[in-house]
Amino acid sequence: MSKLSAWFGGTFDPIHNGHLHCAREIAALIGVDKVTLLPNNVPPHRPQPEATAEQRVELIQCAIRHDPLFSIDTRELLRDTPSWTIDTLTLLREEVGVACPLAFIIGQDSLLTINKWERWQEILDYCHLIVAQRPGYASQHTDNKVQSWINRHVVEVETLHQQPCGGIFFADTSLYTISATDIRRRLHLGLSCQNLLPDDVIRYIADTGLYRPR
Ligand code: ATP
Repeated sequence: MSKLSAWFGGTFDPIHNGHLHCAREIAALIGVDKVTLLPNNVPPHRPQPEATAEQRVELIQCAIRHDPLFSIDTRELLRDTPSWTIDTLTLLREEVGVACPLAFIIGQDSLLTINKWERWQEILDYCHLIVAQRPGYASQHTDNKVQSWINRHVVEVETLHQQPCGGIFFADTSLYTISATDIRRRLHLGLSCQNLLPDDVIRYIADTGLYRPR
């Protein structure tokens, strides 16, 4: 079996230190030396990100410039159809083959809405889910059936390397009270985002006038 690879999807409007610190901790916990960031294509019927797709990519590029752990994959942005995670995972699985373990990183808030994802029960046929803790979110799903599904799939870290997919690993990450929504709100009010964003991202936002005070 080949090496476990880790993927981290999100809107990244903008990418922030919550994403980056969690991903670094997860990489160390699960033993990967590469995390690929996968900015998503928001379907037209959903609220659109404030930054354009190109700006979201540039924000990520600024954020990861000095950290070889990270790379970026823009495949979802290049599609002109909504980017369902299941479709991307299908493509990734085709690329790496059936035996290679794949890990897809999400926050606890995303796990709590997993049953709203397209073909959600098939997600684990393609990857493991690695769940980062997120302050302010419940530890249990409100739907008992979904919670039972989660419980049935919980695995230890070794399984992530031994099996190609099928596990949910709860990563004991630090709690980061950082969200993109709050960062946009702060920037609209002209407040500082020091410690919430990497310096290069702060500079990019200042230079481009993105998220400028309203
Ligand atoms: P928003 O505030 O607009 O919802 P966000 O901060 O959650 O944005 P996203 O790009 O939507 O950012 O998040 C991508 C992924 O990162 C999601 O799975 C989310 O759960 C996770 N994530 C985001 N922020 C954190 C955080 N502070 N701690 C742990 N996971 C996080």
